[in-house]
Amino acid sequence: MSLIQDAKSGRITEEMKTVAALDDVTEDFVRRGIANGHIVIPVSPYRDVKLCGIGEGLRTKVNASIGTSTDIVDVDMEIEKVRQAELAGADSLMELSTGGDFLEIRRRVIEATTLSVGSVPLYQAFIEAARKYGAVVDMKPDDLFRATADQAKLGTNFMAIHTGITLETMKRLRNQGRHGGLVSRGGAFMTAWMIHNEQENPLYSEFDYLLEILKEHEVTLSFGNGMRAGAVHDATDRAQVQELIINAELADKAHDFGVQAIVEGPGHIPIDEIETNVVLQKRLTNRKPFYMLGPLVTDIAPGYDDRVAAIGAALASSHGADFICYVTPAEHLALPTPEEVYEGVISSRIAAHVGDMIKLKKRDADLEMGHARRDLDWERQFAVAINPERARRIRAERMPADADACTMCGDYCALKIVGRHFNF
Ligand code: SF4
Repeated sequence: MSLIQDAKSGRITEEMKTVAALDDVTEDFVRRGIANGHIVIPVSPYRDVKLCGIGEGLRTKVNASIGTSTDIVDVDMEIEKVRQAELAGADSLMELSTGGDFLEIRRRVIEATTLSVGSVPLYQAFIEAARKYGAVVDMKPDDLFRATADQAKLGTNFMAIHTGITLETMKRLRNQGRHGGLVSRGGAFMTAWMIHNEQENPLYSEFDYLLEILKEHEVTLSFGNGMRAGAVHDATDRAQVQELIINAELADKAHDFGVQAIVEGPGHIPIDEIETNVVLQKRLTNRKPFYMLGPLVTDIAPGYDDRVAAIGAALASSHGADFICYVTPAEHLALPTPEEVYEGVISSRIAAHVGDMIKLKKRDADLEMGHARRDLDWERQFAVAINPERARRIRAERMPADADACTMCGDYCALKIVGRHFNF
């Protein structure tokens, strides 16, 4: 029985109880959310993980994507990225290796973490085709479904699958054009394959078969956003919206079939279009969990894209995005280092918290920090900080003469001056 069937029949499972406790909501709230498709819990019959509930009414979750590229294949570095992502507080990992022995790398990554793991099986199918037949466009549709089943058996909890890139979507892409091109790897592989073979996307035309595989292995389906804008000037264009409409319809079908569904969203979006994107996505998908990639709110800050995405993610989360994919400072420039993975997760966690302060009215930690600062209670400040080690280190490196204050104002600490006269 799938979680959806359990939820619909009124049964509260251990997974639902765990997520309810972690997110401080009632067990029946989680059950109802799963039954109506507003909440998912990515599970796997092959591996126990720290459960991560995603969806309406729950804390905004943060994903960290890692994996080799064709240029940099260093398995130990990827394992270190897993460690850094967990240290920084990521809720899930996506393993997206495309270089080296990526099946072995994925196995080792999955072994190295207790977090939920996501993947993009399409990468495996296309890259294996390139190695076997000499070109990605020679991939056979069966390769896609075999890769999906193979990865599910490794204990993958959720999969980004590019069902919405169809002949109709491509027509929209061609008609409208793009300032920033097509930036999704999955989107590019599938588009090239469809053009070369003059065929419909097998993930769309054989969607029922895909659902059977996912249901058999209890994988959560994350509808991929292959047409996401890679430049703010392409945000909310026809190709993006066309793909969303198709994915929204398929997400309903997946849920009715008993497969948990998340729908991914763009990409690069100027700030004034973020709310529109969240409202549109939630409306079209019947409030399925929204997995926001970024969003990056400007294109001109390479080297700082973790901050650019955090600005967008904070706003997206405040309007209702449920799950955000981190962005590292190396975005658009290079494969990230473990340190950049850590930075990216912290930036996204800040964004998720800022969003939850609005969306869920979760402000207790901020109140505690306000009081701790007023009272110049440094240990309480560190205890509530998102990154206590960094806060502690910066203060320790520049300790003041008066240990109560800090070296920002020193003798003229405003809190000390006023604190003597008020009993706050
Ligand atoms: S010295 Fe200035 S910055 Fe530091 S705690 Fe006092 S008021 Fe705040």
